[in-house]
Order: sequence, then C-alpha cells, then structure tokens
Amino acid sequence: MSTAAPQISDGYLISTHPGNGSEVGRFAVDDAESVAKAVARARDAQTWWANLGFTQRRKLLLECRAEMARRIKDLVRLIRAETGKSVNDAFTEVAGCFENLAWAPKNARRVLGPRRRRGSLSMIDHSAYVEYRPYGVVAVIGPWNYPMYTVMGSVVYALAAGNTVVLKPSEYTPAVGQWLADVIDEVVGRPIVTVVHGLGETGAALCESEVDKIAFTGSVPTARKVAMAAAKRLIPVLIEGGGKDAAIVDVDADLDKTAEQLLWGAFTNAGQTCIGYERAYVPESIATELIDKLVKQATGIKVGDGEDAQIGPITMPRQIDVIAAHIDDALNRGATAVVGGREAVQPPYVHPTILVDVPEDSRAVTEETFGPVLVVNTVADAEEGLRRANATEYGLGGAVFGKRNAMSLARRMRSGMTSINSGFAFAGLPSLPFGGVGSSGYGRAHGDDGLREFAVVKSIAKRR
Ligand code: NAD
Repeated sequence: MSTAAPQISDGYLISTHPGNGSEVGRFAVDDAESVAKAVARARDAQTWWANLGFTQRRKLLLECRAEMARRIKDLVRLIRAETGKSVNDAFTEVAGCFENLAWAPKNARRVLGPRRRRGSLSMIDHSAYVEYRPYGVVAVIGPWNYPMYTVMGSVVYALAAGNTVVLKPSEYTPAVGQWLADVIDEVVGRPIVTVVHGLGETGAALCESEVDKIAFTGSVPTARKVAMAAAKRLIPVLIEGGGKDAAIVDVDADLDKTAEQLLWGAFTNAGQTCIGYERAYVPESIATELIDKLVKQATGIKVGDGEDAQIGPITMPRQIDVIAAHIDDALNRGATAVVGGREAVQPPYVHPTILVDVPEDSRAVTEETFGPVLVVNTVADAEEGLRRANATEYGLGGAVFGKRNAMSLARRMRSGMTSINSGFAFAGLPSLPFGGVGSSGYGRAHGDDGLREFAVVKSIAKRR
C-alpha cells in the first residue's frame, strides 16, 4: 500500500506515482518573489504575442498541437505516472485536450475579431465597433484529476485570445504541467506559458500577484479563497468548482444502454471526475431491472495498476478516507451495497461500489465523494428524480436517460451542462461551453463563451 502524496524536500516539490510511490519528478518550489518574476516574464511576452494577431497565433498554436501529437506517448506516460490513471482514462483525457487545442485557435478570429454594430436612428452619423482585447496575463490554477484536460480548457483559449499564461499545476501533477509549458516554449520560442510549482501557498501567491485574470479549477473551499483574493484586486475570475452530478432515469429509457453509460459516467477515472455521476434517481417501476443490469455490468470491472486495468488507484491518499466515510455513513444509515461496500476500500484502490436506498441527507448524497461510488435511489417518477437531483448546492453537469420527456427534464435540471442518454458527452465537444452554476462556479471554459471569457470587451463609437 502506498500513501504517496506530494512532498517538499530542500525546496523541491517531489511528485510520485499514487500506486507504487515511485518518484516521477522534482521541481523547485516557487515563493511570492519567484511567482512575481514569472508574472513579469509572462507580461514581457504578452505584447509580442498579442501583436502577432489571430492568423499567426493560430499557426503557432496548431504547430504546438502537432508537436504534442508527436509526443503523445510521453504525455500519456506522464499522466499515468502522476495520477495512476488507466491507459484508457489517460487516452480519453488526451483526446479531449487535442480537440480544444484545435478548436480554440481555429475559432478565435470568428469569435473575437472586431465587429461592426448597427447605429440607432438618432445616432445615424456614428459608426459603432466592438473589439475583444486580451486581458494581459492570465493565472491558470489546475487540479490533479484531469491535469491536462482541465488546464487546457483555459490555457489554449487564453492564448488564442492573445493573453499569456502563468500556470500553477496541482502539486500532485507538476510534471504534466511542466511538459505542456516546455513543448509550447520549444515551438514558440517565447515564454507564453510559464509554470510555477508548489502547494496551495504558491497558488495563493499567484492570486495575489499582478495577474489580470484568474482561471481556477479545483475544490469549492479553495475556489472561495481564490474568489476572495480576486475580489481584493477586483480582477475577474473563472471558477470551475466541484460537483455532485445526478442522472435522472425515466421509464422509457433503454435500460441496457442506460446501465452502460451510468457506470461509465460513475467509474471512469476511478470516479475522480468533477462531472462524474455520483447519484442516480430511478422510478420504482424500472428500478429492480436497472439495478440488476448495473450489478451485472459492474461485477467484471478490473481494478489495478496494469495495462489492462479499467480503474486505477485513488490519486490523492486522503480522499480514500473521505470515500470510506461516505460508504460507512450510508451503510450505517440503512443503505445496501449491491456492488462493493466497505470491503471495496483497499488503499490505494477503491473498487466499484453501488449503494441503493441511501438516505437523502447522508454524506454520499450531499457531499462530493470523488471515488467510484454510485448512489442509486428510487423515486415515484422522473419529476421527483428532477426535484431530488436539483436539491444540491452544486450544479455542474448531469444526465437524463429517457425519450419522450428527456429534453424537458434536461432543460429544467439545475446545472451548467446536461447530457441526454450518454455519459457526459458535452465534455467531448469543444464548441460547447463548460462550467456550472451554484457552488460549482461561474464563467465558462470551451466554445465561443470560453474564448470570450479571456477577452475584455471594448466599445468604440466613431462620428463620421
Ligand atoms: P484543490 O482545490 O485542492 O486544488 C486545486 C488547485 O488549487 C491546486 O493547484 C492547489 O495547489 C491550488 N490551491 C490550493 N490552495 C490555494 C489557494 N489558497 N489559492 C490558490 N490556489 C490554491 O482541488 P484538487 O483536489 O486539486 O481537485 C479536485 C477538485 O477539483 C474536485 O472538487 C473536483 O470536482 C474539482 N474539479 C472541477 C472541475 C470543473 O471543471 N468544474 C474539473 C476538475 C476538477
């Protein structure tokens, strides 16, 4: 059993494999002074980068993408080494990155190019323009669960809009963040992405520095600190926080496909997915049939470290205690484990667990579990499922499985993103804005809105 966690030794952050504890890399820790220097370097590069314009930036960013594609095996190896992900999970993450790496530069001119606006009759002698200008230097602070995909959702959009970036990767995945900046540096030849390393203190120093905007992805408690730091300097912030996503199953759903997609959405990346399904609400009339299918399909899932494993170790050792506490709390309060349960927790692994009849005020229903644990609760009908799904402080993603009322239920789900009959398909489409409501945050990554997120709107009215 490994209890590997990021360590600081002699001023270096050491990252390790969460399963076997082997060292992956060491990186000098940045304090407030070196963070300020990194921001100054990014500021120097920004004028040059912004002045290149959309066409030249697009060309260079697509060259970065091509270079990353050439080194894809290195990237997958590093992601797996620092997070313990299965091969499939690592490739899925990387595929999403490449979509965004192409989409943002290809669409930046269309979305952010200068626009002429119509004047009003009383201002007939004026012409009007809107311009989208870069903020300057953007701080991107990332989590460890999708160390490349989540930061890419900000980094390439910020760059395409003409900003430069100071990236603070998670202390669990510094090598992945460094890899991204190194490849960009080699291709572009200027520090348009600079990396700072360390624990939360380094992230806090970055928020207090002279950056012009912060894009944060991580837990809700940290998000509040970041938002408060941004408020002190009155700079804008994008918050991608945690979630407690629910799936609502309706009576006319295809139950085989629903079971398959529910399990994928709940257990992919060992359940360490902000948009993973942690709750499912199923009408009484189809509950037994669906639960049987879930049990059958979940039973063969392979957990481990090898090439053929479908679920890897839990990346953050202290999360194992949280997952175990959620399972215990549910079982102590009358829930039943139809798959897994207490014995599923075998550090550094947690085997798939499906809990049924879980009281709605138990921790596995109200708090983010961030492990391979799916709560399946029965409801009278999909409308009750919707009410329960929406009874949470979070509002990141979610899903509806069904036919006739699926669109209506999806529209009324209180979330930033909802999939119908699939496991969070919205995350694979770079044209769709990504983000949440409530405690899950505000602002949007990806898509047209993701590009505008990294631009200041400037209005110009000119008298003819
Ligand atoms: P975390 O909040 O512990 O850390 C995130 C980052 O913030 C790390 O780089 C950390 O070093 C940094 N940090 C810590 N304290 C800071 C401070 N005071 N100021 C500035 N930065 C600070 O989160 P985590 O454990 O790395 O990630 C898991 C969480 O992220 C989960 O809650 C998950 O749901 C969420 N998440 C959300 C999304 C999304 O898009 N909404 C995506 C992935 C993960």
